[in-house]
Amino acid sequence: VDRLPRYAAGKPPAPVEGLVSYKLSSNESPLPPIPAVQQAIAAQTDFNRYPDPLSSRLRTALAGFLDVPADDIVTGAGSLGALNQLLVTFAGQNDDGKADEVIYAWRSFEAYPICVGLAGAESVRIPLTSDGRHDLDAMAAAVSARTRLILLCTPNNPTGPVLTTAETERFINAVPSDVVVVIDEAYQEFVRDSDAVDGLALYRKYPNVVVLRTFSKAHGLAGLRVGYSVSGPELTQHLRVAATPFAVSQIAETAAVTSLAHFDEVVERVQSLVNERDRVTAGLRELGWFVPEAQGNFVWLGLGSDSAEFAALAAERALSVRAFGDEGIRVSIGEADANTRFLELCAIYT
Ligand code: PMP
Repeated sequence: VDRLPRYAAGKPPAPVEGLVSYKLSSNESPLPPIPAVQQAIAAQTDFNRYPDPLSSRLRTALAGFLDVPADDIVTGAGSLGALNQLLVTFAGQNDDGKADEVIYAWRSFEAYPICVGLAGAESVRIPLTSDGRHDLDAMAAAVSARTRLILLCTPNNPTGPVLTTAETERFINAVPSDVVVVIDEAYQEFVRDSDAVDGLALYRKYPNVVVLRTFSKAHGLAGLRVGYSVSGPELTQHLRVAATPFAVSQIAETAAVTSLAHFDEVVERVQSLVNERDRVTAGLRELGWFVPEAQGNFVWLGLGSDSAEFAALAAERALSVRAFGDEGIRVSIGEADANTRFLELCAIYT
């Protein structure tokens, strides 16, 4: 365990006198859950009972919502829970005792190396292109006899671009069909690029494709921990064996079901954040900054060795942003006031 990196959770900003503080460091929704969710949670009382171990209410609701069989859905404590389940099930050690390989782009979601390591597998990280995209040719070339699973993150956290349908399909056809290809779509609801891959379309076509989704971002339920994977029967039957029973609490299941039932309200909120994201991106580009395609609820600035300095200046203005070593900073889209304050800082910093 000592050789594993640690989770670096996004911190709230320290208070600054006279300024409202904004946390822009964890890609959370700045908005509380929709009122119907808050009411449904408040009405629940049967906490002496275990939740349904199979999350049947949620899986049935998702099956209707996504138009997939409920049996193809496995729920987890956040999509992180579902991801751990995938890795523990499909990647670990070969029969010869050597570690399996899991390929993913880097930089990407910082939990990947930790989860892969905990599963006992070995990470094979393929550098992103200079505009923050997956280098799918290099990723396909990295596949070896030991490769068991590949993680694709679209939009990529922390850089923002999506994978296109065409390139993803070409990639899936280029890798052996016994390698599991996971498409992590944590930010799927924020995507507006019409060329973006739709993981579910590929899951319908390829039995080795798994889609990961979450209620943490668009639905604003990060604190309740609920996410899921969608995969065909062949993979799903194995996933169920490793499933943690009761991983999704009653409150989380109720909240997720209710949020799906009021999805039009969720969509409205997502659209307001997409509008803010596009305002921030356009504002930054007007100032002359290079911003990779931003399709999630965050933007990336490749500040290199200035990243820590920029984060410190943001903290002085009661904004917490996430610095990733000497690579860059990721700034979540927050309240309009927060985004404006961030843009003002960028204007001074230019
Ligand atoms: N995948 C990606 C790409 C993410 O950015 C995140 C959250 N930061 C997750 C998965 C996990 O989110 P959760 O466990 O809250 O669903």
